[in-house]
Amino acid sequence: MIETSEKLFEQAQKSIPGGVNSPARAFNSVGGSPVFFEKAEGSILTDVDGNEYIDYVGSWGPMILGHSYEPVIEAVQETAAKSTSFGAPTEIEIKVAELVKKMVPNVDKIRMVNSGTEACMSAIRVARGYTGRDKVIKFEGNYHGHADSFLINAGSGALTLGQPSSPGVTKGTAKDTLTANFNDLHSVKKILNENEGEVAALVVEPVAGNMGCIPPKKGFLDGLRELCDAHDVVLIFDEVMTGFRIAQGGAQQRYGVDADLVTYGKIIGAGLPVGAFGGRQEIMDVVSPVGPVYQAGTLSGNPLAMAAGYALLSELHTNPHHYDELEEKTTYLFAGLKDVFQNHDVPVSINRVGSMISVFFTEEEVVDFETANTTDQELFKKYFHAMLENGVYLPPSPFEALFLANSLTEELLDKTIEAADKSIQKAL
Ligand code: PLP
Repeated sequence: MIETSEKLFEQAQKSIPGGVNSPARAFNSVGGSPVFFEKAEGSILTDVDGNEYIDYVGSWGPMILGHSYEPVIEAVQETAAKSTSFGAPTEIEIKVAELVKKMVPNVDKIRMVNSGTEACMSAIRVARGYTGRDKVIKFEGNYHGHADSFLINAGSGALTLGQPSSPGVTKGTAKDTLTANFNDLHSVKKILNENEGEVAALVVEPVAGNMGCIPPKKGFLDGLRELCDAHDVVLIFDEVMTGFRIAQGGAQQRYGVDADLVTYGKIIGAGLPVGAFGGRQEIMDVVSPVGPVYQAGTLSGNPLAMAAGYALLSELHTNPHHYDELEEKTTYLFAGLKDVFQNHDVPVSINRVGSMISVFFTEEEVVDFETANTTDQELFKKYFHAMLENGVYLPPSPFEALFLANSLTEELLDKTIEAADKSIQKAL
């Protein structure tokens, strides 16, 4: 029973558009009332009605070591007692910047912002300022936040709600965003050739996570690097999801491909609102106050957010075994789910990279936006609700990846696999 959630949702809709402060939280594509939460510890969420769920959303990524992670809570409490914001420099900002530089390749300089959207929006402004060019290339079904330039064939909530290109984005802005097909180097080559000398940046989710989890095909990221070099285009890896998750050094490390600029969010703030963009010194030097490209933020580098991020990143940096454990846990879940669907003769394509995983109900292998759209969304809806009833909280959309946390025990993974077994029987 989620009676209190339902009441709160009704109340919320009277004063908040759609009752939520971010569309991906609404249950629009699966129907019903979103669950309102009260607290969480490790991988267990408790809702306002006292129901417990095993969490596979993890606040859409940040909770890589689970909720209420002690060092993060302590860091936030200690910092809050001193002040929540100065709007002036603090030492913790340097510590976070230096730590990120140690963990991540190719980041000489990094600037903190307050969200992944801001990070991506700022990165393309920097690329435009650096190259003196206007156009950017992105991929269909990739999501880089809700800034105007990115709401063209976008993924995530925009895709879930059938609004991949949003009204309110001017024609002038839209004409500077060119869309290529994920995992298809020919589509990129074609656009670059047709727009020679006009493209400032190519931005990509190195592992697409906003149309479900779709890994890059072998050679795709290397190919992008080569094409960007050949056409003097700034290569931006949007590592808002993959950063500090699929490896300490994110996709750059995991796939051995160097980006010129990278964007971060989610884990970098441990659940507080933080994003960041960084990269090669030569490019970052165009950023104000060193260079002419203006970028700013009253609360950027906020002490609470920095303290939380530092606590989480330090743990990931000093104890890299977390990545091996996450890999093992995701492999275990993958194998368990594969068996369940096979036993029930349900055709699925299960994609996995590190601790990101997606189950697509489809006969086809899901490799891009087009194949992601072949999935059985009606079956997903039924499966999602049955999983919820069986105590598992999945992202409420077939176009979102699951994020595993290292707080998931074998017992919880087994419970999840059992729940999947019961849920798919009910959904069929
Ligand atoms: N980039 C990617 C890859 C994302 O997944 C997201 C959010 O999910 C963003 C950018 C935007 O980040 P935020 O929601 O913090 O603005």
